[in-house]
Amino acid sequence: MKFYTRNETRKINVGGVVIGGGSPVSAQSMTNTDTRDWKATVKQIKELEEAGCEIVRVSLPDMEAAQNVCAIKKNIKIPLVADIHFDYRIALEAIRQGVDKLRINPGNIGGKDRVEAVVKEAKAANIPIRIGVNAGSLQSVRGLSGSDGNSARAQGLVKAAMEHIEILESLKFYDIAVSLKASNIAATVEAYKIFAGKRNYPLHLGITESGSIFSGTIKSSAGLGIMLYEGLGDTIRISLTANPVEEVKAAYLLLQSLELRSAGVEIISCPTCSRTEVDLIKIVSQLENEVSKMKSLKKLKTPLKIALMGCVVNGPGEAKDADFGIAGGKNTGALFKNGKIIGRLDPKDWVKKLVEMIKTEVKRLDS
Ligand code: SF4
Repeated sequence: MKFYTRNETRKINVGGVVIGGGSPVSAQSMTNTDTRDWKATVKQIKELEEAGCEIVRVSLPDMEAAQNVCAIKKNIKIPLVADIHFDYRIALEAIRQGVDKLRINPGNIGGKDRVEAVVKEAKAANIPIRIGVNAGSLQSVRGLSGSDGNSARAQGLVKAAMEHIEILESLKFYDIAVSLKASNIAATVEAYKIFAGKRNYPLHLGITESGSIFSGTIKSSAGLGIMLYEGLGDTIRISLTANPVEEVKAAYLLLQSLELRSAGVEIISCPTCSRTEVDLIKIVSQLENEVSKMKSLKKLKTPLKIALMGCVVNGPGEAKDADFGIAGGKNTGALFKNGKIIGRLDPKDWVKKLVEMIKTEVKRLDS
């Protein structure tokens, strides 16, 4: 795998998953169930685990939700992060219940004694704290627009994060991750860049309130792509107004597109045109669907490249460069393996054959 020159950050350990210090950029998500219903929350986390989620966050709006942390933890495999606003007693309960990380801003939980109590217990339990600031809560930048507004948002985010961080540092607590999210890409990118010049805590990247599956994935990928390409970011969440499983799929595809992680299979397919001689849109969608069900793919450190091309004009070139590929012709397709034609296939058999070949290759690489 190719890694960009990554910004050097401290390492923190979240229930066995290391963030920062050059560790692989991890994919996170957050449940949208009512955490008071621990069974529904566990069910959703299991779906997220299947999709490859490496760290999951739940919000704890009250003590009843916090008291469910232990039951949730017992039934899941990935580290659990508790999202808490304002009430330090909920943080203390989450720690007692065995949570792996807190997302809490110490400046928002009241007097020093409360912060000290949370920090003391977090230190004893050896769990990190994420400082997460959002532009939406910055009063000073309300109504500002244009590049000046974005710059003010970025500065405001960093200032707010530093205030929270300095509280933790004054208590000699350094197991910190930081997020500085705005719904505007320019403001978010600038904030992370300014922050990276001030402290080396690992960065949790995200564009907040980015939108639905389609628009949110594009917006998040544009913003996170800039930062990841420049070496910033140790863990990511693509926030979507959708089933959180979609966030995990999008996170892996983004990381894979930047060659930072593998989602197992990279499908290369042509956009189709008047030369297309097969129903390529349907075939690619069927293959994507089949691939999404193959759990063992996450083991592949380098993704298998599968090319699906609609004709013999540009098709053979891409198909040859892929691990496996098919270049379509009239009612047929030339099947390539590692650059060589190994047969011809009726389009109705393409997906079945490629799935077979992927499974065989995964077994071979795994043995
Ligand atoms: S590969 Fe062939 S069918 Fe696909 S877009 Fe290119 S020219 Fe058109």
